[in-house]
Amino acid sequence: MERNNICPHCKSENVVKRGLSKTKNRGTQQRLLCKDCKKTFIRDEGFWKMKNKESIITMCIDMYVSNLSSRKMRNQLKRHFGIKVSHITILDWVRKYILKVQNYVEKIRPKLSGKIYADETEVDCQNRNDVFWCSIDWDTRFINATLYSPNPQNFKDAKEFMKRIGKARRPKYIQTDGLPYYPKAFKKVFYTRYNKNKVEHRINRVRTTKKHNVRIETVFSKIKDRVDDFRGFKAIWSAPILMAGIVLQHNFIEEHTTTGEHPCKLAGMDLDVGENRWDGLIRLATVFG
Ligand SMILES: [Zn+2]
Repeated sequence: MERNNICPHCKSENVVKRGLSKTKNRGTQQRLLCKDCKKTFIRDEGFWKMKNKESIITMCIDMYVSNLSSRKMRNQLKRHFGIKVSHITILDWVRKYILKVQNYVEKIRPKLSGKIYADETEVDCQNRNDVFWCSIDWDTRFINATLYSPNPQNFKDAKEFMKRIGKARRPKYIQTDGLPYYPKAFKKVFYTRYNKNKVEHRINRVRTTKKHNVRIETVFSKIKDRVDDFRGFKAIWSAPILMAGIVLQHNFIEEHTTTGEHPCKLAGMDLDVGENRWDGLIRLATVFG
């Protein structure tokens, strides 16, 4: 039984292969016949009815999240492949598939070391100073919690952030900077849920130690670099989606430079995604999502 061989008309699994169908832009596709309702169909693996090849679409997503603007991407496609798409179309692809993959991977629980480094940074977005909160699990380098907020740092957001950090499993410790909201938020979330002192709160006071939280800084700098690109696209595009894309890229697409592994693999998520990892993730999200 091949995965996702379910009839979209009657939901039957009594399905057989019935020849190949040519599609206009995505080559030949396997057509299937449902023996119960006698209708045929082509399996949707995530790119159904897309007008461009999946390799082009996934390349755009990968390069966009890696730091190439949608306009530059559009120009590259035209110059190197003779493909004409607007940069809005590229943003639409990026948005659509980030959300799809995001919904899928949220359901998989990572196995973490519990050594958590948490930090927050201001993002200058549409003349507001938004705040992006982000925490990373040290042994796996898996980003396990984020919060994107249009408000300056405050207790409510700090508390919500702490809740998200503790969602997958109880941390061993959480290291934060000296932001005054953290101790109270930490106590509120972890003292009531797990009894006293089972989770340690380590505070790194930058002024005393002179050490910044370098562990998250590369992720933050990527995000700040990308924000300019979607100014003015408020209606169709938003900063949280970009953040989600950058986090997906970090956790699932790129090998971490220090560990040499994909954070998702170290976190026990051995996903069968193949060489083109965005393509593989989109297929998994479509079939099992
Ligand atoms: Zn059927």
